[in-house]
Amino acid sequence: MRMIGLIGGMSWESTVTYYRVLNEETHRLLGGQHNAKSILYTVDFAEIEACQRQDRWDDAAALLADAARALVQAGAELVLLCTNTMHKVAPAIAEAAGTATFIHIADPTAEQIRAQGLSTVALLGTRYTMEQDFYRGRLEEKGLRTMIPQEAERKALHRIIYEELCHGRVTPASRETLRAIIGSLQHQGAEGVVLGCTEIGLLLRQDDIDIPVFDTAHLHALAAVREALGAAA
Ligand code: GLU
Repeated sequence: MRMIGLIGGMSWESTVTYYRVLNEETHRLLGGQHNAKSILYTVDFAEIEACQRQDRWDDAAALLADAARALVQAGAELVLLCTNTMHKVAPAIAEAAGTATFIHIADPTAEQIRAQGLSTVALLGTRYTMEQDFYRGRLEEKGLRTMIPQEAERKALHRIIYEELCHGRVTPASRETLRAIIGSLQHQGAEGVVLGCTEIGLLLRQDDIDIPVFDTAHLHALAAVREALGAAA
């Protein structure tokens, strides 16, 4: 079993999901007392979030690259960046990870969408993820078409992520907002929905929606277990 390194804390609420899925899936596959071997480096999200707001992405990249190097030095053989948004600076993190395998969060997501035979998906996430090209472009390179909500809905979703979900607040009103956003994208042709923010899975599950849901935090963690176990999986 290879050692999984997690760059977490963005927010810590969703890092908990990663930790749980890594261990549950390893136990499901190997049984007994098995769990995943992992090392967690938690950043202070306040520092990262300030960089985002102030458009200082290079500073954020430097902080996260330091985290990747520290994980590899401590023995990590795989590196996961536990947030979609900060994949904006993924090339810098992958480079800092050196010989360790960096798993880009959009890749297992795209793989799963294609495995289900879908080609057009709604993408929900922070405004950075929905509006910029770093994430949509990666999905589109893999042959997928992405749809995003209208401006006012994007604003509402961004607020829900930073002001509620990153603080562990899950409310029925926000769940309804999300369901309405997804319903309208479904009406316009979305065949599935990508929860392209690692906290959205705290609010919304497959049972809440009648098109396939792709939860990036889950899919990312599951991919790490497959990679860590290799032939043993
Ligand atoms: N965890 C979120 C994401 O997956 C948002 C927090 C962040 O800005 O990193 O995009």
